[in-house]
Amino acid sequence: MYYQLIFLGPPGAGKGTQAKMLAETAKIPHISTGDILRGAIANNTPLGQQAKSYMDKGDLVPDTLVANMVRERLHEADAKKGWILDGFPRTVDQATFLDELLTQLDRNSLKVLNLEVPELTLVERLVARGRSQDDNPETIRYRLEVYRQKTAPLIDYYQKQGSLHSVNGDRTLEEVRQALSAIVGV
Ligand code: AMP
Repeated sequence: MYYQLIFLGPPGAGKGTQAKMLAETAKIPHISTGDILRGAIANNTPLGQQAKSYMDKGDLVPDTLVANMVRERLHEADAKKGWILDGFPRTVDQATFLDELLTQLDRNSLKVLNLEVPELTLVERLVARGRSQDDNPETIRYRLEVYRQKTAPLIDYYQKQGSLHSVNGDRTLEEVRQALSAIVGV
């Protein structure tokens, strides 16, 4: 089977955890733009230097930077069998870019997994996670606002394309995992 999976959902919805587990089950790479960017910052690469100030504030990194990163990653050998994108696309422009990139690939297998979690739960989870500078209460509120304005419109975008699958993410890890497995068929 060839899988093209996109995880959609607000920060704290559990995208990263679920995407990682699903990637292991389906034996395909888990591509997290947030992880790649954090790695670039840790290694102080030019990409990391450009991305850091945006990430610290909770802002989105400019589309072009992320788009180039994703294009290169999807062309790597291990992505030939499929992939899971976690944290990309995050704007309608990024989604349009991905659509164009996918016209060269087989796009029938695209599924967008939208994790739905109430806002109160998200804030609790993010405060508990305390990952770094972008997980302090003020930045969390700001990231949720960025999500509402820039990323939430993708729900409609993929609904119209017929690839959206919404899942209640306000359940135990295992319940959510099973719901996702059933949709994907792994
Ligand atoms: P994440 O780990 O997915 O929550 O991403 C952490 C941060 O990385 C975000 O708050 C953004 O600053 C940046 N980032 C990750 N993915 C993207 C993307 N697709 N577009 C723009 N910025 C991104």
